[in-house]
Amino acid sequence: MKVTRATFDDVMVPNYNPAGMVPVRGEGSRVWDQNDAEYIDFAGGIAVNVLGHCHPELVSALKEQGEKLWHLSNVFTNEPALRLATKLTDATFAEKVYFANSGAEANEAALKLARRWAIDKHGEDKNQIIAFNKGFHGRTFFTVTVGGQAAYSDGFGPKPGAIEHCDYNDLAAFEALISDKTCAVMMEPLQGEGGIILPDAEFVKGVRELCDKHNALLIFDEVQSGVGRTGHLYAYMGLGVTPDILTTAKSLGGGFPIGAMLTTTDIASHLKPGTHGSTYGGNPLACAVAERVLDIINQPEVLQGVLKKEALFRELLGAINDKYQVFDEVRGQGMLLGCVLNEKYQGRAKDFMTAATNEHLMCLVAGMNVIRFAPSLVIPDEDIKVGLARFERAVAAVVNAD
Ligand SMILES: *Cc1c(COP(=O)(O)O)cnc(C)c1O
Repeated sequence: MKVTRATFDDVMVPNYNPAGMVPVRGEGSRVWDQNDAEYIDFAGGIAVNVLGHCHPELVSALKEQGEKLWHLSNVFTNEPALRLATKLTDATFAEKVYFANSGAEANEAALKLARRWAIDKHGEDKNQIIAFNKGFHGRTFFTVTVGGQAAYSDGFGPKPGAIEHCDYNDLAAFEALISDKTCAVMMEPLQGEGGIILPDAEFVKGVRELCDKHNALLIFDEVQSGVGRTGHLYAYMGLGVTPDILTTAKSLGGGFPIGAMLTTTDIASHLKPGTHGSTYGGNPLACAVAERVLDIINQPEVLQGVLKKEALFRELLGAINDKYQVFDEVRGQGMLLGCVLNEKYQGRAKDFMTAATNEHLMCLVAGMNVIRFAPSLVIPDEDIKVGLARFERAVAAVVNAD
């Protein structure tokens, strides 16, 4: 059966507007479309393909587990899930793990756990959840409401209640909002969708201290920042601030859907049997792949390599900007970088992304003013150079079209 981009408009719900070309295979940081045209991938499936496409070790993990056992449900446990949970707890502050299938579901679990914890320990009145403007936490109704972008949460009728927002990096506003009624604070330790915004050191420390003062749980959403992306296994490790609950997904599966919520034994004890669950969460196939991802990423050489690749990106992007004057700054950390458009190009991130696709480079945007790169953490230097040469042509195309 012949299918094309036009088929999308015929048979798919129109909530997405994908690019004109249809990718059919990938290898490392290169992708080929239906016409066998080759692309360099700086999008990484939105910070997911942490080891590129079809990494041989992940393919073999998938094949090995695929011939053993795919799915059981949580009526039974399984070896890959138990091994992955052991490795996650060994590598982080956490002592307990809950598996889900996506970032939104990991966050949904975190928020439900925080509410349970507060109600069990402190009573019904301690139910306020604070989150940050421009934050993104997923698309379920609870997580989209906690997220700080009205465009995603409005227009679906009554929302879950007791959720408040303030500006990221504004400690005074946060201090004014938090109280003993706050049960949890959810934040990204590096805002991704909102524009690749790093937290100030005093801000994160202040948030942690105020959570402690008011007995509120601090939830770090590391769905985008986690699993080596910042050059630390998790971004919190580079900030010197430890959350009470951490969520991880995207890169964790390297392209196979999985999410996880990590926490302490004490907090976890409030999700007693029957309080929450998922049919697929922690299924052996997903966990076998994620276990291999973690084994590969959680090595000093790989994590240091992320910072070396960041330096190469910054050097070459700086040279492009010297020539064309389109960015105010390149921000972010590791393999999660954002080129912030200057005054002259406000609102035009999408134009740059489209021009990049025309030059056979896949990249992303983060809002209307930031071009986002979230490539594989092991992208070869050669692919960075060739990809950024294509990006330079895309920048030239936008600049010269004016
Ligand atoms: C992508 C993302 C999510 C949602 O993850 P899904 O797997 O799409 O549900 C949640 N939080 C952050 C920070 C994200 O970047």
